[in-house]
Amino acid sequence: MGAVLVVVLAVLPLGAVDIYIQNVIILVMLLAIMATTWNMVGGFAGYISLGHSAYLGVGAYTTAVLVVQVGAPWWAGIIGAVVSSALLAGLLGLTTRRARGHAFIMVTFAALELLKVLAMNLTWLTKGNHGLALPFPPLPREQQMWPYYFSSLALLTLTVLLAVAVRRSKFGAGLLSIREDEDKAASVGIPTARYKVMVFVLSGVPVGIAGGIYAYYIGFVEPRGMFNIATSMTIVLAVLLGGRGTIIGPLLGAAIVEPLSQVTNTLVGGVDGGAWRLVIFGAVLLAVILLLPQGIVPALSGLWARLRSRGRDAETGTRFAEPVDPDALANALRELATSRHDRGADSGPMLIVDGVVKRFGGVRALDGCSFAVERETVTALIGPNGSGKTTVFNIIDGSLTADEGTVVFAGERIDRLPRWARAFRGIGRTHQTTRLFPALTVRENLVAPLREFRWARLAAPSMSGAERRRAEAAVSLVGLDAYLDTPARELSYGQQKLAELAQILVLDPDLVMLDEPAGGINPAIIAQMERIIRALRDAGKTVLIVEHNMPFVLGCSDRVHVMAQGRLLASGTPDEIRANPAVLDAYLGEAETQRGGVV
Ligand code: ADP
Ligand code: MG
Repeated sequence: MGAVLVVVLAVLPLGAVDIYIQNVIILVMLLAIMATTWNMVGGFAGYISLGHSAYLGVGAYTTAVLVVQVGAPWWAGIIGAVVSSALLAGLLGLTTRRARGHAFIMVTFAALELLKVLAMNLTWLTKGNHGLALPFPPLPREQQMWPYYFSSLALLTLTVLLAVAVRRSKFGAGLLSIREDEDKAASVGIPTARYKVMVFVLSGVPVGIAGGIYAYYIGFVEPRGMFNIATSMTIVLAVLLGGRGTIIGPLLGAAIVEPLSQVTNTLVGGVDGGAWRLVIFGAVLLAVILLLPQGIVPALSGLWARLRSRGRDAETGTRFAEPVDPDALANALRELATSRHDRGADSGPMLIVDGVVKRFGGVRALDGCSFAVERETVTALIGPNGSGKTTVFNIIDGSLTADEGTVVFAGERIDRLPRWARAFRGIGRTHQTTRLFPALTVRENLVAPLREFRWARLAAPSMSGAERRRAEAAVSLVGLDAYLDTPARELSYGQQKLAELAQILVLDPDLVMLDEPAGGINPAIIAQMERIIRALRDAGKTVLIVEHNMPFVLGCSDRVHVMAQGRLLASGTPDEIRANPAVLDAYLGEAETQRGGVV
């Protein structure tokens, strides 16, 4: 269908439509390029920019300066636009290390204003408010628009193909997970900072090129027109109206918004025209957010899905996870195994936590915490609420930085490594309150994790081939095969615990850390969890669990460490722990007398 559209658009100017219509189509295409690329950052990765038109201005100015001031040929101007927009995008991408959410919106807006001021004041380069005039190509009247028309069409086609490729790739799956939960994304191996810089550059460059085309198209480049907040707002409006995060949405949005903008242009011209257009666009934006919060395309596809699933509702009752038999488990684990395990140094403990101190204001959550986790064991970490178990998990996986002390994993000190690098080394961790990417399906959740950083892997399709097989192996490991296409937020709490376990198993971790895997879930799923934990150890993995459910802990662990007030109180086998008077005193006695086992 896309190809047909491209062909139709390609033949239109050959006589079928007049110059005015060609003009409108060019502007629609330019807006569609900007909307599609905005969507890669705002829709896929969730970083809302109010300065996207800055790339247009930078591309236009670079081209104009090179052509007019330097006397370079047009193609050199366009190459300059590529370089300058890539640089700007890279810079903006770096600011996302510190600025998220509202702060990021302000940064993008400020960048746009700053560039406008620069364009006004660097008069030796830009001629300030006088602007730069570009030459028109000498063409017969009816062919005047062709260079802009066909170059815009080609650029739009490439941009949409780029967006589709990104969306389908492993890289795209990572961007979606950044949008859903950036910290969690890092913990499943996504180098978030690198991903963001990459997507910014991918989204900025096409707009930079569009800026070069636009400069030639309007023939005159000046600061207010080129670095215009209204253009940025129009982009955002087009994407929100069409549907953020979709491929078609930004295109549809551009096709609606640009003609609308032309109409308001002719209706409210004059001195205050610009201000009035902002008001009108602001009002339309507000109406869209209130009436069609998801945009047209998602609303329609949601309606379509409801119509199709009508009548089928009756047969899909709630199912638990399917019980998994040990052979299937072993098979799935073999499927997930990677070559990482070939490394030599397989002696010494898997993990050594040594003298770790963590303070939160006045609270010493960890106060010289030290313990080791031997290879191929199930080791439990128990202790009263607030004794620091989750905090020590956070320090091992890199969510928090310790004030003092070291963490050694498989013989290597890891406590200064970024979180994704620890995931690459082989640490997988689930959360006490499950953290999946809520709006993504189970399948999308499972294809997001990244085991190592390789370009070929980023470009690999996420929903087919090897990545898909891994996701399916992981999901069969926990018995959630029937839920592959269910959004994570629709799973029951216990199913979410299993899905998060499956998600980290995609990383093929050597150390699997589970924070309260049996907390708040039904007994059938607890039994399932216990079987899986044993199978993981039998397959050569090391498992570290934090859990309050004593029968569960003492039943499936080889060693138990007891924590109290941020440090280790005792260690031993489950039997030794049961008999240890200090432990009984501090902790277990209480649990045993309560009998349900849950403290
Ligand atoms: P556990 O998992 O053993 O129940 P935690 O590790 O969650 O305990 O908490 C240990 C102590 O640290 C508690 O007193 C808790 O209130 C405090 N704490 C944990 N995380 C934070 C935080 N992000 N900010 C402030 N205090 C925290
Ligand atoms: Mg906890």
